[in-house]
Amino acid sequence: MSQDKKNNTNHDFDPMMFQPLEPVKLFDDYYFIGNKLVGFHVLKTSEGLVLFEAMDKYDVDDEFLLPGLKKLGLEKEKILMLFLTHGHFDHYMGAEKIRLRTGCEVALSAEDAVFMVNGPDNYLDIDDLRVPRITRILKDGEDLTFGSHTVHVIFAPGHTPGCLNYSFEVHDKGTPHRVIMVGGYGVFGPGVYPGGHEYPHSVTYAVEQALDFAVSCVKTWEYVKETGCDVYLNPHPHLCDLFALAEQNQSRKEGEENAFVTGRDGVRKWIQERFDVCLDCAQKFTDIRGN
Ligand SMILES: [Zn+2]
Repeated sequence: MSQDKKNNTNHDFDPMMFQPLEPVKLFDDYYFIGNKLVGFHVLKTSEGLVLFEAMDKYDVDDEFLLPGLKKLGLEKEKILMLFLTHGHFDHYMGAEKIRLRTGCEVALSAEDAVFMVNGPDNYLDIDDLRVPRITRILKDGEDLTFGSHTVHVIFAPGHTPGCLNYSFEVHDKGTPHRVIMVGGYGVFGPGVYPGGHEYPHSVTYAVEQALDFAVSCVKTWEYVKETGCDVYLNPHPHLCDLFALAEQNQSRKEGEENAFVTGRDGVRKWIQERFDVCLDCAQKFTDIRGN
């Protein structure tokens, strides 16, 4: 689940936001298929496709993935693994149908494999939850190699108890760039919960999660510096300017950089903004300071 970054409340969803958009190629080996809110991130390796996320409905395979892959000329590629960042319904709902059709692995942390079944967040507005079978439990710091590409797993709790970030290389006209995909976005607590519902946990838990999230931001930033990540992505396209940057690339001239390559400072901007929101929320959730 995501939140409006300005006022930290939920979006008023315009039905147009759920319409399929033209699938886009972001790098030589990276694509996005979806709508304005959620979608599939597709990494093309020498052995087949690796997917990240599975959107917010059970049948997104027929509505989005299959036609999208066809438009991109990727329909014959084998789907090797579907990575989920966390156990919120708008990230996993389509996963089970894709797993059953393709036989791909579905990967998530142990914490969120439990959370997606038992966590209260998903049961507020969705009557027909389709929780996928998780066939691959991921651990912090793990590397999974698919031919030409390796996906690095970073445990980054706070948005959910077992939220994950992923990092991997993509290529632009053959030049490698390193992506950091940050899984969680919203910071939840009293007065700040999806759909305007009452927060179901204690103040202590809310502050703990917000501070955990802040620590995860620092951990992510340290990783970004260490490995030279120069591309930031969020599973939600509107939370990483995905369509704006893709449009910018449409008018890209010879010699100009791919708009998604924003460098370390471009990546830092997003992580720092989250860090600030986490610290701010941690203080707002409690009245210990007399507020
Ligand atoms: Zn979420």
